[in-house]
Amino acid sequence: MRVAIAAFMHESNTFATQKTGLQQFHDAQWDYAGDLIPTWKDAHHEIGGMLQGCGEAGLTLVPVMAASATPSGMVTAEAYEHIVQSLLKHLGQARPFDGLLLALHGSMVAEHYPNADGETLRRVREHLGPDIPIVATLDMHANISSAMVTHATALVVYRTYPHVDQRARGIEGAMLMGRILRGEARPCMAHRKLPLLIHIVQQYTGSGPLADVFREVERIANSPGMLAASVAPGYIYADVADMGVSVLTVANGNTALAESQADVLADFVFNMRGDLNAALPDVAEAVRQTKATTGTVCLMDSGDNIGAGSPGDATFILAELLRQGVPQICTVVYDPESAKTCFKAGEGSQVALSVGGRTDRQHGDPVFIQGRVIRLHDGVFEESEARHGGTRRFDQGPTAVIGTDDRHTIIVNSLRVMPTSLQQILSLGIDPKQQRAIIVKGVTAPRAAYDPIADHVIAVDSPGVSQAGPESFVYKNRPKPLFPLEEIRDWRPSAT
Ligand SMILES: [Zn+2]
Repeated sequence: MRVAIAAFMHESNTFATQKTGLQQFHDAQWDYAGDLIPTWKDAHHEIGGMLQGCGEAGLTLVPVMAASATPSGMVTAEAYEHIVQSLLKHLGQARPFDGLLLALHGSMVAEHYPNADGETLRRVREHLGPDIPIVATLDMHANISSAMVTHATALVVYRTYPHVDQRARGIEGAMLMGRILRGEARPCMAHRKLPLLIHIVQQYTGSGPLADVFREVERIANSPGMLAASVAPGYIYADVADMGVSVLTVANGNTALAESQADVLADFVFNMRGDLNAALPDVAEAVRQTKATTGTVCLMDSGDNIGAGSPGDATFILAELLRQGVPQICTVVYDPESAKTCFKAGEGSQVALSVGGRTDRQHGDPVFIQGRVIRLHDGVFEESEARHGGTRRFDQGPTAVIGTDDRHTIIVNSLRVMPTSLQQILSLGIDPKQQRAIIVKGVTAPRAAYDPIADHVIAVDSPGVSQAGPESFVYKNRPKPLFPLEEIRDWRPSAT
């Protein structure tokens, strides 16, 4: 049995001004055929899990193509069409195969397709015909659409946030494919769309309400007759008609069971809605709270959450920490121009720079710093542990560490990288425990990396295109009603 493996992944923030073009996919990951294997084999990523799972299930691997880019603005029509055409062409060349494992994100928005993953699945299904099973994996932040459910044979969604189970979900997808191809499983899927949003900090699955939700997901997934169960909180930074929480269940050959279990799970999640919202301190209050603590404080910059598509160069928290006189601040700022200036000056040189606030007018003004370039680095680092995103090899581009005259550590890099690995700063010789305040450009995803070194973690309601709550955005396309933006009294789950 031959199983093709492919990936086309992007989380697209429709509020971000920077579009995602072909270059951003080239800058991140884009491999063909056998090149997929060294890139992903050891990664804590679903592609690594698919490779491992196919081996364990006795399936012959046919690696086809994997393209992904760091979350950012919507994907250009040119990039989407180019990559999908390339995927279809390479799928055609890889035939014959018996099944396809496809890693998608689920919240990709292309300029011409708000539900781009649904469109990708539609085209792949059309290309392969009705008989070849397609098992697709999705990020928990997928805005799952009925098109995705229609055109896939089965969907498997991450169950952790930070996403540390990606490899396990890839293995699960491959094992399910093995059972389908051996005639042991006939997936019947049911999908429920909930009129509900879950606040980003409440999406944490290590404890709290979502830990309860995912215990229920596990119970249902492992109950008799079931093949899989998922809850996807969705992604509030894509203003699309499919925004919101989804429940998915997959039963073996029994549509009625899938439907009834989907209702049970949908009810369970919706009835918890009172616990799924949160209020975070604003920037000034978060800095006051920082000053009232001791040790290392990680300030999670929700408004500049790179993993949700923000630019990575917001300065609101940095400026406020400086204003309130907090010592030993450490931050990574995406600022290729400042990095270039530091490289030109050379290690050991004095520099005076305006850092950050360059991408747009939504993330603060540049902040003036002066100090010494204490380190220049090519920006490549590796993460061997299971961390959100599952990436093993990172590249933040040419990177400079500036020790300011007032003893802060400002790092300027040249490629946007989610702060999901502590190696991003360890590789630069920075000891996080020596820092008083570390600004982290994310909210929940970086916690797998930063919790172990933080004495305190403060999630900050900072402005930006990934601001924590949905109240700060003007939506044109989202469904209505959605709790907590609208009050909902009576709701019963129904098939989509
Ligand atoms: Zn995610």
